[in-house]
Amino acid sequence: MQYISTRGRAPALPFDEVLLSGLARDGGLYVPAVWPLFSRDDIRALKGLSYPELALRVMQPFVGDTIPTDALKRIVDETYAGFGHRCAAPLKQLAPNLWLMELFHGPTLAFKDYAMQVLARLFDHVLAARGERVTIVGATSGDTGAAAVEACRDRDNIDCFILFPKGRVSPVQQRQMTTVDAANVHAIAVEGTFDDCQDLVKAAFNDTAFRDGYNLSAVNSINWARIMPQIVYYFWAAVNLGAPERPVSFAVPTGNFGNVYAAYAALQMGLPIERLVIGSNSNDILTRFLADGVMEMRGVVPTLSPSMDIQVSSNFERLLFDLMDRDGAEVDATLTAFRRDGRFAVGSNRLTRATNLILGGTSDDDATVATIRRVRDETGELLDPHTAVGVGAAELTKADRDPAVPLIALACAHPAKFAEAIERAVGTPAPLPERMADLMTRPERNPVIPNDLGALQDYIRNRVDSRGAAA
Ligand SMILES: *Cc1c(COP(=O)(O)O)cnc(C)c1O
Repeated sequence: MQYISTRGRAPALPFDEVLLSGLARDGGLYVPAVWPLFSRDDIRALKGLSYPELALRVMQPFVGDTIPTDALKRIVDETYAGFGHRCAAPLKQLAPNLWLMELFHGPTLAFKDYAMQVLARLFDHVLAARGERVTIVGATSGDTGAAAVEACRDRDNIDCFILFPKGRVSPVQQRQMTTVDAANVHAIAVEGTFDDCQDLVKAAFNDTAFRDGYNLSAVNSINWARIMPQIVYYFWAAVNLGAPERPVSFAVPTGNFGNVYAAYAALQMGLPIERLVIGSNSNDILTRFLADGVMEMRGVVPTLSPSMDIQVSSNFERLLFDLMDRDGAEVDATLTAFRRDGRFAVGSNRLTRATNLILGGTSDDDATVATIRRVRDETGELLDPHTAVGVGAAELTKADRDPAVPLIALACAHPAKFAEAIERAVGTPAPLPERMADLMTRPERNPVIPNDLGALQDYIRNRVDSRGAAA
């Protein structure tokens, strides 16, 4: 299996190279050169498998022979054995033909664990085989950083530094990062905003001597190996609800378009998916695009669903590549103009191809809170605010969907992670699951640095150099 860049000018690479490089050298995103196909019989053969068994079947063709199958099996088994539910992604029925897939049973209670836990182990495996180490540096507004810190702890060949804006992540998110007791992971509070954190990370990568000296690497959602493990739970849900005989639809709250793109990938692989419903909060660039074919940047407004407070959905580039019949030069020209003008438009043929599959619905904070309250009253289930945005979109698009097709809404985080929204909706915050009930009293390790590249680099040098000396 080879991967090609959406901008058409980087060399095709095998899986292990794509894993380590993240972004393509031409600025594009890697996608499979051809989709591995699952026939109806192949899909039928997935029925009754455990989550890790199914994960191995779905991911193996993407990895090919770059990682031995027994090693991949060990990685997958170990990952999901650490989850808090034996099904990993249990399905719950909310109403006739409306299901919830719970993706909050990983160590940091959001769906990002399902991929990040696999990604870090894949890194470790490939690095060990090559005798290399990497230093992961990233910025977070909450969920990604927590998932990265948990995934990188105890990995032999990774040092991980995650920056977050001091005092601006939720208390649960902060403690998920700062209470991890492992010498190779560091959650650092920066005296600044999330944008300052991102700028610091960019500046560290732009310092070529530093980047090469410490072998800097990223784990953001443009890495193909973040998308791949997310494809698994779409197969899991569809097979458990009757695929391939019966098609299903999914509702996905969407920010960077990574999660819903994984559903699109499952469809390309042969999974019968009827519709993808995407939910936006007030940062609604994608749902506006679906309405008129114009992608237009606006400023970011803070909402109750902060993991979707984005200006641009970076993974949309992968869908655009297919809408443009895999013409990398056209994608490159379009997205270069988008960076310059803040806007691009697609013609009605291409828009129709997108909207034949993808429907969108927007919920502002008041609508999100109303959805949380309504679903709690009707079913007893507490939805986190991101999940509620997805369920809200499912409701808004009801008239445009076949009522006979089951809709699976993705529950992307545990409601305990977002106390403010839950309190507004139902009066009291949701309790943490039992296995982390003591999170708020665990000892914290929480260094603070000024918003300054030199301070960040000194911090990284000191930690990585002393680990190297100890090894
Ligand atoms: C990251 C995240 C999202 C957005 O997912 P994308 O892949 O960026 O579209 C939605 N909900 C939660 C809880 C998240 O952590």
